[in-house]
Amino acid sequence: MHEWALAESVIKSTVEYAGAEKITKLKEAGVVFGELQAIDKEIFVFALEELRRQFPAALTCKFKIIKEPAAFRCKACSHKFALKGLKKTKDEAEFIHFVPEMAHTFLKCPKCKSPDFELVAGRGVSISYIKGAK
Ligand SMILES: [Zn+2]
Repeated sequence: MHEWALAESVIKSTVEYAGAEKITKLKEAGVVFGELQAIDKEIFVFALEELRRQFPAALTCKFKIIKEPAAFRCKACSHKFALKGLKKTKDEAEFIHFVPEMAHTFLKCPKCKSPDFELVAGRGVSISYIKGAK
């Protein structure tokens, strides 16, 4: 159900933005989809298609999914590193995908080996841009 609630808030935000900006015909909205988002992308896209029927303003809008790769920042040395490319087994990668908080158990900063880092990208869903005609 999380996917549906999220899809609805994306559509609502897009429609509200269009109203505030006096956009009469929405064309496209970029939806950033984090790599570590624990929701099903297929269901989310389906929910977007279904739910926008309830919002006339959103009917002309194409929702473009933009994948955002996961990235971390080391709290000890401020080094930024991507999840991609780090040494991990397939099981670990899958586990991190669903429980990003557990990444510390498997990963270390590639520069200083500290396990104290934070996730700075790749979590959550957000709208990056909205295009339309006035
Ligand atoms: Zn570090």
